[in-house]
Amino acid sequence: MTPELTTRIPIPDVVKILGSGHYLLRGSSYNLYQQIRQDVGQQLLLTSGIRNVVKQIHLFLAKSLQSELNLSKASRSLAPPGHSFHCIGDFDVGKTGLGELNFTEDFSRTEEFMRMVNLGYIDIRYTDTNLYGVRYEPWHIKIG
Ligand SMILES: [Zn+2]
Repeated sequence: MTPELTTRIPIPDVVKILGSGHYLLRGSSYNLYQQIRQDVGQQLLLTSGIRNVVKQIHLFLAKSLQSELNLSKASRSLAPPGHSFHCIGDFDVGKTGLGELNFTEDFSRTEEFMRMVNLGYIDIRYTDTNLYGVRYEPWHIKIG
């Protein structure tokens, strides 16, 4: 879905999110993130934002090593380079203090997640029956 491996995201188009080490696309992604935090609380944090293809290559290679080079297994939890919705503005959220558990179903049991569901923020990109072959990801916020 990203045509060129070297496609760059122009710096003026992104905003660094203080305290997270991650970036969001200015406009729709950034505004949505701010709105969610305002409504759900400051315990909500950004756990992954916009990624360019090079960043996705690094992440995918790391995931492949963790998966003992089983690329099919690696693709269930991380999209191959050029196929991540993080390239178009999707982002991941978590709860302060939950650490690695933010990337498990535990996140869907937090008060923050419940509030996001009640407020209509959750339109899950990767449901438990998704056809992308990706695991269920309740922490992944869809743009557009
Ligand atoms: Zn994600």
